[in-house]
Amino acid sequence: MDDHRADLRSGKLKLYALEKVLPPDEAVGLRREFIAGETNTDLAALGEYTIPIDRVVARNCENMIGCVQIPVGVAGPVTVCGEYAEGSFWLPLATTEGALVASVNRGCSAISKAGGAEVRILRDGMTRAPVFAAGSVAHAHEVVAFAEDHLMEIAEIAQSTTSHGEFLGMVPYVVGTSVFLRFEFDTKDAMGMNMVTIASQKVADFIARETGARLVALSGNMCTDKKPAAINLVEGRGKTVTAGVFLPDDLIRDVFKCDTASLLDVNTRKNLVGSARAGAIGFNAHAANIIAALYIACGQDPAHVVEGSSCITTADPMDGGVYVAVTLPAVQVGTVGGGTGIATQAACLSLLGVAGGGDPPGANAKAFAEIVAAGVLAGELSLLGALAAQHLAKAHKELGRG
Ligand code: NAP
Repeated sequence: MDDHRADLRSGKLKLYALEKVLPPDEAVGLRREFIAGETNTDLAALGEYTIPIDRVVARNCENMIGCVQIPVGVAGPVTVCGEYAEGSFWLPLATTEGALVASVNRGCSAISKAGGAEVRILRDGMTRAPVFAAGSVAHAHEVVAFAEDHLMEIAEIAQSTTSHGEFLGMVPYVVGTSVFLRFEFDTKDAMGMNMVTIASQKVADFIARETGARLVALSGNMCTDKKPAAINLVEGRGKTVTAGVFLPDDLIRDVFKCDTASLLDVNTRKNLVGSARAGAIGFNAHAANIIAALYIACGQDPAHVVEGSSCITTADPMDGGVYVAVTLPAVQVGTVGGGTGIATQAACLSLLGVAGGGDPPGANAKAFAEIVAAGVLAGELSLLGALAAQHLAKAHKELGRG
């Protein structure tokens, strides 16, 4: 170990190469010690972790120095009446925002008392859109025509790279000499970004070779991954999911201490009118809060909170109550791959009964997406209720501050 310390200091051994000469836990420990020394910072707390890191250092995190810990609270149970998730679920929420778990918990209670959230997946497809440079607008048009004429071959090439992924189709977009081909895949239980990127590379190489167009970048930002974008709101990305529940007037009064008209008014003026005036991409109260907490607890890519937050919350007045629904155009989740195999994250997926590959493949990721939508509905209901009852500041004062 002393030799490695000296080699690190002299630059003979690179910091990122420690796992080549030491077992993972020792490599991470020595790297943390080195950075602590270089920066004169006490980093001991980052070394307090329980997850086995052998796979983590190889797959999830380079130059690892330890782990931060995020508290996980549980909200629920919430009754979900989906096509894949059916029953009562405790939602694991990783958060440091006091009052969030309590708020979602209250929404879960309202949903369950009302008989459960109906949830449906409207579409399912993960996208990657390479950008090619053509020589002229006429050439750009030819590139699109070639791709459209060779869809069967493109599907075969794409599917030769994966045993689970299924090519669903392609939508072309042209801007001058730039050609964007937005490929879409059913990625089953994987969130699928690596899967579709690998498949798209092989397809893009084929198209560039056959058409003479230059492949500029495997992602041309029309995918659109991890950026707020209207294309995801309109066309969807990953799973497009809706969840809704009818809440009778007395239940609203009982759980949220407000009347139905106030709740409707808040939804219209805040979620719809306010969001429109702000030019927002999402029309909701705080979908990102629930998405972030669930994604972090369950090993999802937290950057996909960006797309997840583009939720539209609607409230339809009905006889004796209100039907509140959330529509989430882009829920990008997986139950295999990425961070889902890390012990603590896998435990949270197991709590929901969706860890690993589903039977048939894809069933677990779909069930998880339905649970996510029900969780968002719970969060929306509770915050709308708190605002309608003028309780928001009071709840945060009581629960969110020490
Ligand atoms: P992955 O861990 O790269 O791959 C998951 C693999 O699991 C699949 O490719 C599939 O192998 C296999 N698999 C086994 N059982 C499966 C089942 N039931 N359903 C589906 N697949 C099954 O994960 P990924 O979901 O493709 O990508 C997620 C990762 O990509 C995350 O870590 C995320 O942060 C990262 N990411 C990457 C990019 C990028 O541009 N590359 C962008 C954003 C995020 P086969 O394909 O062989 O069938």
